Amino acid sequence: MLISSWTSPKTTKNMPSKIHEKGFFATAPISRGEVVAVKLGHAIDRATLDANRHIIKDSEMQIADNLFIAPLTDEEFPASMVFLNHSCEPNCGVAGNLMFVAMKDVKAGEELTFDYAMHYAEPDYAMDCNCQTTSCRHRITGNDWQLPELQRKYAGYFSWYIDQKIKNSNTP
Ligand SMILES: [Zn+2]
Repeated sequence: MLISSWTSPKTTKNMPSKIHEKGFFATAPISRGEVVAVKLGHAIDRATLDANRHIIKDSEMQIADNLFIAPLTDEEFPASMVFLNHSCEPNCGVAGNLMFVAMKDVKAGEELTFDYAMHYAEPDYAMDCNCQTTSCRHRITGNDWQLPELQRKYAGYFSWYIDQKIKNSNTP
């Protein structure tokens, strides 16, 4: 059986988005706390990630310091993609390392988004943000999880991996 991410039957993926080319959308009302997607793939180390970057592109989820979940074939890549875009005012957060949950009630037709700061910690990473929200940071980096205001705003919605990093960085 092909390794494939799970997406809620109340969602549709790979649809045109105003944020970035393709997005992940609610097709029915979704309540706060509902699981909207589970990201699945192979558990691989950084060397394997680097060696397969042409297949994985930027679809991996980091789950520990040297452990990632990612597709490893061209067939698995589209099946693993959820197309959850970044927003600086997201309606979804991370639960555990691989699940995405609604942080608020979402209406049918709304795009589902999360904040990359919730799961991403590559120090050299940066991208421009075009989310059009009043909270927009404009420049998103792999160090944003360290921002105290985001740690407050997203408490309970960081991945387990980022949560451990926050706990360790706050230990005197
Ligand atoms: Zn933004």
